[in-house]
Amino acid sequence: MPRYEFRCRACGSTFEVSRPMSASGDPASCPEGHDDTVKLLSTVAMTGGGSAPRPAGGGGGCCGGGCCS
Ligand SMILES: [Zn+2]
Repeated sequence: MPRYEFRCRACGSTFEVSRPMSASGDPASCPEGHDDTVKLLSTVAMTGGGSAPRPAGGGGGCCGGGCCS
């Protein structure tokens, strides 16, 4: 299950939430209970350096997009 990183704008903390991709856009409450949170860019596998956008939900790692040759 992918993890998504959020930042709480109320207390400034960041936290991760594991959730299904189908729920990736759902709001998350911070561990302190604040609801004013924003989702940060995914921490998942963006190490390839490629500029082509990859559809969310690939889930196959780098080789899913053919960037590994
Ligand atoms: Zn908070």
